[in-house]
Amino acid sequence: MGNATNIYRCEICDNVTANVRYKAREMMFGMYDDFTYFECGACGCLQLATPPADMGCYYPPSYYSLSGSKMARVANWLRDEYAYTKTGILGRMVFALFPKFGLQTIKQQQWPQSARILDVGCGTGAILRVLARHGYQYLHGIDPYLAQDITVSSTLRIEKRALDTMTGDWDVIMFNHSLEHISAQVETLRHACRLLAPGGVCFVRIPTASSFAWEHYRTDWVNMDAPRHYFLHSHKSINLVAAQAGFHVNAIVQESSAFQFWASEQYQRGISLMAPVSCMTNPLRSAFAWRQIRAYQVQADEMNRTNRGDEIALVLTPAAAQHS
Ligand SMILES: [Zn+2]
Repeated sequence: MGNATNIYRCEICDNVTANVRYKAREMMFGMYDDFTYFECGACGCLQLATPPADMGCYYPPSYYSLSGSKMARVANWLRDEYAYTKTGILGRMVFALFPKFGLQTIKQQQWPQSARILDVGCGTGAILRVLARHGYQYLHGIDPYLAQDITVSSTLRIEKRALDTMTGDWDVIMFNHSLEHISAQVETLRHACRLLAPGGVCFVRIPTASSFAWEHYRTDWVNMDAPRHYFLHSHKSINLVAAQAGFHVNAIVQESSAFQFWASEQYQRGISLMAPVSCMTNPLRSAFAWRQIRAYQVQADEMNRTNRGDEIALVLTPAAAQHS
């Protein structure tokens, strides 16, 4: 499917040799528009070669109401509570189908409740809302694609805003599946680095091309998410970006799920993520039996164990702090 070419320059490592070109389609909403990507022959970063002139039209209002119905919102609430607290039978059932490992990874970080936490590209603040319910007192979210600001509570405010306009001292700056949506990778992380208070950490959750899912599904891989994802980092390229931005990578946590399999299988069959027969919108009408989803999760667990999962979380600390 891909062919080698020397016409692209890797944004991460400058390599121009043996970069492999791919055509990927918009599949979340089933727009089916074509986009060119290439995989760097040196650092392995998969990247969007030619961004669309108007990226905004790939973030329609429904992008932020993927869980639109009232029932879906309740289900998500129960699922998120289960993910964070490991309690609740109904939440556990929703979690089994639509797991959210990120909340578990976040809880494992054991940030103090007084931590000043900034979530960059937070959407409507799903993760911050969970932290607010569990005692965190200083939470702020920003997302440039939001229609307007949202005041959730006195301890949580969400602004339509880009990172480069932010100020302040933050103990934690999170990118929960948002860094891959930003074209200026090093600049963005450098800015985050400058906004950290002494002892602060940057917490980054991203999809990764260093995965079985990319190798197996290629442009049908759900987390490629053309054209919204500018960069699908390899383990090597995210390390390069972090270092260029002044960070040291302290930990990589594997957190991929059954989603990488069932959603990519759907893309192979031309079924968009939001299609009426998608497991995402209607699990009961989808092509996958419950048993199949469980089998995919077992496979995902195996990928995570062998460092080949398609979603990872990284803890970055300012490199300068290593020596002080
Ligand atoms: Zn490269």
